[in-house]
Amino acid sequence: MQNSLEKLIYHFEQLSGIGPRQARRLVYSLLKRSGSDLREFGNLIATVKNTVHTCPSCGLFHTDTKPECVYCSDQNRDNTSLMVVEKDADLIAVEKSGLFAGYYVILGGTVPITGRNPVRDDLLKKAVELRKEQGLSEIILGLSATPEGEQTKDHALEVINPLLGDEIKISILGRGLATGTELEYSDQETLRNALSNRK
Ligand SMILES: [Zn+2]
Repeated sequence: MQNSLEKLIYHFEQLSGIGPRQARRLVYSLLKRSGSDLREFGNLIATVKNTVHTCPSCGLFHTDTKPECVYCSDQNRDNTSLMVVEKDADLIAVEKSGLFAGYYVILGGTVPITGRNPVRDDLLKKAVELRKEQGLSEIILGLSATPEGEQTKDHALEVINPLLGDEIKISILGRGLATGTELEYSDQETLRNALSNRK
C-alpha cells in the first residue's frame, strides 16, 4: 500500500458514512491537532477493543467493569416492557428522551433486502426469554421507518413469535416517525408521539 498519509485516508474511508473526499478532509484536519491530542486519539483507538465490551443481555457497547450495562443491571427499571432497537445510538436516543423505562435489546443492524442478515437473533431470543421470566407483558419494536426497518420488523416478529404466549403483546412504535426516519435522529416530540401512538 501507499505512504502513511494515504493509508490513514484509507482507514477513515472504511468508517461508515465516510466517503473518500471526507476521509481526506478528516486526515488533513488531524494534522492541525496537537501531538498530545493525537497521541490520546491513537491510544484510545488502539485500546478500544479492550476497554469497551458488549452487554451480554442487551448488546450495548459500554465501558463499565461489570459485564452488564448500566440499564440491564438497574433492578428498578420496568420489567414488563422490552424495546427492540436496531443500534446503540437508538437506545441512547430513547433513553435521552426519558420516555421509556423498560429494558432493551439491540439487534446490531437491519436486515438488508439482499445479503447477509446481521441481526443478532440469538441475543433477541435470549432477551425475550430472560424478560419473560421477570414478568414481561409488552415488546415494543422500535425500528426505523425505512424499507430495511420494515424488513427487520418482519424478521424480528418471525424470531420472537414462537416464544410468546397470549400474555405478551407486541407493539410497533407509531408512525409519528416520518417515512424514511431513523430512530436515532428523531427529536423528543417525535419520539413521544411514536411511543404514545404505538399499536
Ligand atoms: Zn445491557
